[in-house]
Amino acid sequence: MGLLERYAEVVGQDVIEHLRQLSSPLKGMKVVHVNSTREGGGVAEILHWLVPLKQELGIDARWETIKGTEQFFKCTKLMHNGLQGNGIEIGHGLLREYERVNAENAEELRGTLEDAEIVFIHDPQPAAILGCLPGRKGKWIWRCHIDASKPFRPVWKYLRRHVENYHASIWSLSEFAQLLPHPLYLVAPSIDPLSDKNRDLSEQEISSTYDRWGLDPGRPIITQISRFDRFKDPLGVIQAYRLVKEFIPVQLVLAGGGASDDPEGEEVLRQVMESAGSDEDIHVFNLPSDDHLTINALQRVADIAIQKSTKEGFGLTVTEAMWKGKPVIGGDTGGIRLQVVNHHTGFLVRTPEGAALRIRYLLKHRDILGEMGRKAHRFVMENFLITRHLREYLTLMHAVMFEFQDRIETG
Ligand code: UDP
Repeated sequence: MGLLERYAEVVGQDVIEHLRQLSSPLKGMKVVHVNSTREGGGVAEILHWLVPLKQELGIDARWETIKGTEQFFKCTKLMHNGLQGNGIEIGHGLLREYERVNAENAEELRGTLEDAEIVFIHDPQPAAILGCLPGRKGKWIWRCHIDASKPFRPVWKYLRRHVENYHASIWSLSEFAQLLPHPLYLVAPSIDPLSDKNRDLSEQEISSTYDRWGLDPGRPIITQISRFDRFKDPLGVIQAYRLVKEFIPVQLVLAGGGASDDPEGEEVLRQVMESAGSDEDIHVFNLPSDDHLTINALQRVADIAIQKSTKEGFGLTVTEAMWKGKPVIGGDTGGIRLQVVNHHTGFLVRTPEGAALRIRYLLKHRDILGEMGRKAHRFVMENFLITRHLREYLTLMHAVMFEFQDRIETG
């Protein structure tokens, strides 16, 4: 079975036919995506499915990654943090290295990029390639995956010089978009319903999760899946759990990973363990980053998902839990607001007390909990699956390729 046919089983044949129609004028078009890594991180995850799906639609889609030096990646990490608001200036030496590496990669990729009809450049790392290829023929689009809502100005000012000459840019949320002299598009992230993280699990896979992780199937479970990061507020989650526990014998799962390669993560994990103390109903799991099936199962055994972030780019964990039919108690911030439709797919909260109140309410009103979970699943089906993401990419490609045509034949 073709890749698209597999998705048809989830989203319906009509959605797939629509994608085929949209892609028909784009058939054979050479489209190149460029980023800086093939593994790790959300961008690579998206390109792993986006490029093969475009190919299956008959588009000549390719994926190139740039090569860089240690100093180069040091510079781009500072840029990333700067876009997220970190007030650290980047030295001239590092910026020269950034430009040198971009020029080198432009040379390397000249043959592929110069005659491509559309080039998508992802994030700041390869952004300066555009300026190194004056002979380019196609439309170039810069895709920013970062929360740049309040960038450190000197960093944005520098990067802006490299991205302002693109034909368009794409952002995840309107709050993140920066003013640029070209069309700005908004494309929200999405999840892959067929990946190990999100695919259906058998009854056996789900029921074995209780034993494996020491959970009691007879009592309610609330779960937050997250890196151990201050902005995810795991300590606030524990506080909320304790407030609920005074009334309901609930269990809390805090599962995350990445602590070993993130010094701050380790410290947050330590604080979480300290706060959990000897409470046997608080289950803290430090998981390997590729343990997608465990995350899937832990999300499925939960009665309610919590994502009490105080700052959040998008919050894929929210989408993942909603896809599994769980209402989400989410922090009233960033992309969580796009997903948690207050009182419908979950509740937006600002404090542990607010979270506790909502958890108690849902555990007491099982019918409402069930209905919210069903709405949450539908909401993801309609808005945050990769088929919507792909549709928006195709529409955007129409917009940049056929900008002055008032009629496009979609077959
Ligand atoms: N995740 C994971 N292992 C963990 C913690 C998180 O695989 O231990 C996944 C999670 O399922 C989600 C992504 O990492 O797919 C986190 O994305 P999100 O947008 O929620 O937060 P970020 O970590 O990017 O701030």
